[in-house]
Amino acid sequence: MANNYFVKYKDLLTIKEYDEETNKEEFVLLPLEDDYVIGKHQKRINMIEYGNQIAVRKSVYERLIKVAKNLKNINNDFKLMVVYGFRDIKKQEQYFNEIFEEVKDKFEDEMEMYEYIHEKIAVPIVSGHPTGGAVDVAIYDAKKDEIIDFGSEILDYSTTMCYYQNENLSEKAKNNRKLLREMMMKEGFAPYDGEWWHFSYGDKEWAFYYNKKKALYNQVEANRVFDNII
Ligand SMILES: [Zn+2]
Repeated sequence: MANNYFVKYKDLLTIKEYDEETNKEEFVLLPLEDDYVIGKHQKRINMIEYGNQIAVRKSVYERLIKVAKNLKNINNDFKLMVVYGFRDIKKQEQYFNEIFEEVKDKFEDEMEMYEYIHEKIAVPIVSGHPTGGAVDVAIYDAKKDEIIDFGSEILDYSTTMCYYQNENLSEKAKNNRKLLREMMMKEGFAPYDGEWWHFSYGDKEWAFYYNKKKALYNQVEANRVFDNII
């Protein structure tokens, strides 16, 4: 069986702090059209939140541009497509609470329950998307006007084909996943084995993956992001 590691709630609890200075960093909106990075929400339930554009931390965008430039050196038609970035911490709490209410009576052990929910949606205090540091990305072929073959649709959690390693993947899909991961890691992003498209920079998952004591970013509420956008 393939060797994936799914980062656990208890792993992320080991990262107790974030850096106050880096957490002041501003957010930027990703361009809808560009030669390098494009931000396009996918039409899925609960996913469209703030008009058309996706917000991320400024350093995250700068790193994404570097990834996209490296991809373009490999294939001139390639762009980096971001389908999800910042999520309001209040939305995260809402999604979490919906599952919490459904399952809370089924568990005697609280930690066991949190781990169970965390597999479906990150526990809010450790979650990445509300920091503006996590992104869901794919490589987009501008000439063919499609995302290249990753062996499953982006954001499709319905089967285990979303796991980074999967024995049912074609060689082509396997290589494309490997390429995306290598390019993202080269610019300092941490991967997540549970979803081939999910990467993060500066959140608790990133800090845990790279053995850092502190995260760079904390979760924020949407009004702080959208009042200070540059
Ligand atoms: Zn994600």
